[in-house]
Amino acid sequence: MKFTDLNLSEDIQSAVVAAGFEQPSPIQELTIPLALEGKDVIGQAQTGTGKTAAFGLPTLDKIRTEENTIQALVIAPTRELAVQSQEELFRFGRDKGVKVRSVYGGSSIEKQIKALRSGAHIVVGTPGRLLDLIKRKALKLNNIETLILDEADEMLNMGFLEDIEAIISRVPEERQTLLFSATMPDAIKRIGVQFMKDPEHVKIKAKELTNVNVDQYFIRVKEQEKFDTMTRLMDVDQPELSIVFGRTKRRVDELTRGLKLRGSRAEGIHGDLDQNKRLRIIRDFKNGQIDILVATDVAARGLDISGVTHVYNYDIPQDPESYVHRIGRTGRAGQSGQSITFVSPNEMGYLGIIENLTKKRMKGLKSPTAQEAFQSKKKVALKKIERDFADEAIRANFDKFKDDAVKLAQEFTPEELALYILSLTVQDPETMPEVEIAREKPLPFKPSGGGFGGKGGKGGRGRGRDNNRRGGYRGDRNRDDRDGGRRDFKRKSKNNSRDFENRGNKRPHRASSEKKNGFVIRNKGDK
Ligand code: ADP
Ligand code: MG
Repeated sequence: MKFTDLNLSEDIQSAVVAAGFEQPSPIQELTIPLALEGKDVIGQAQTGTGKTAAFGLPTLDKIRTEENTIQALVIAPTRELAVQSQEELFRFGRDKGVKVRSVYGGSSIEKQIKALRSGAHIVVGTPGRLLDLIKRKALKLNNIETLILDEADEMLNMGFLEDIEAIISRVPEERQTLLFSATMPDAIKRIGVQFMKDPEHVKIKAKELTNVNVDQYFIRVKEQEKFDTMTRLMDVDQPELSIVFGRTKRRVDELTRGLKLRGSRAEGIHGDLDQNKRLRIIRDFKNGQIDILVATDVAARGLDISGVTHVYNYDIPQDPESYVHRIGRTGRAGQSGQSITFVSPNEMGYLGIIENLTKKRMKGLKSPTAQEAFQSKKKVALKKIERDFADEAIRANFDKFKDDAVKLAQEFTPEELALYILSLTVQDPETMPEVEIAREKPLPFKPSGGGFGGKGGKGGRGRGRDNNRRGGYRGDRNRDDRDGGRRDFKRKSKNNSRDFENRGNKRPHRASSEKKNGFVIRNKGDK
């Protein structure tokens, strides 16, 4: 099916084409026609499957821009998600001239009131702030024709049920209601019954809870060795863009500081940060100004950032749903990704619990040694030198140093000069700044074993450990070399280029047939 088959108006279609969407995703294909007919719709599909456009396109289609009234209201769980939806709606409604505003807590309400006064056709907001604005009579709901509950399960998880009910009760009854959610717990079905008119329930079956494009690994490591292990892995993996998850705000701050100390462009986000700072960091991350985003679960929920190649679970999440959400931050829009979960020995039981939910076994990895990390960094540096020398723009700059270079060449041998360049470029593990990360209380002990699929008992993780010994970081190296186990990441390297040729070396090679399950959204550039 094509977007042109969906009967969307011309100006919306042109925006969809401009966004590079070639084909509607299954949830879009099934819900957009219903929504255009004016039906109430409950849409259920995994994260990353395009639910925003599923409700966004038909809603934008309905808006009458000549009327200066708020005609649609989107309720979203977090500030980040509200902003994200607002941006996506704005993008698709721009040609048509639809005004989309977002409102959320932690940011000046006066400014938001002003923005609303200057005109809005669609408002996207978090429950608390929406209620505030309604109470202050700054948000008029009497013209709303479309009400959307986005990421409904998240909103309930966050305890917004009462707020949502309070908002819904103030929206005219004569309306269309659309509800989108990744999962459908009873409480959400109840909302459907209570507040919707004969809703059509569209469910896109998730083949797997976790994206097939994400290779999932775990590393068994003592708490006090986690940080060094992670930075070594990063040296070897050379992630393009990565997210590191920490259990607490303090953890996030400390990891961020440690990563910066070791020369990474890292920033942390968590609930204590003021809103503008958080948004700025997320924007910088999306733009590639930051390579590593360190985050708590709450701060990173639902963020749609393309090109995240690696998720590091510095702390294993206590509840398995968080794990699914975390690793859902990578492998988006058809790209491939990796997740690496650090598990301290007494937390091994949690691994089985997660695998029980995801029905997917994580592969064991071994920690790279300091030497291996160093070798990788050297390779990267050598590649960079080669590439820089081939770069006209960089060579053009050489002229400025001509005289000094001639002098240096008389004073030192080429080898000495090369040694000097390398020693400046490659950080030596011996002299790397020490980083201490304060101990977090480990999760309460859960007996291990009992992986998914009825393997049960000791068999569960036992096989994983076997895997670890055979496969894992070192063991698979040769095999993958033979396989030419290189993986290309779609996101093109930044200037300090990282299309690292040895990327696949240490990873168990994954059969490509595993990829066929599940819908993946393809980007413009993809085949
Ligand atoms: P969800 O709400 O289901 O988690 P999103 O609406 O955030 O998913 O969409 C995930 C990403 O996929 C976004 O970057 C979005 O722009 C992109 N996307 C959505 N629909 C399509 C499509 N039909 N073709 C290509 N990309 C799409
Ligand atoms: Mg969404």
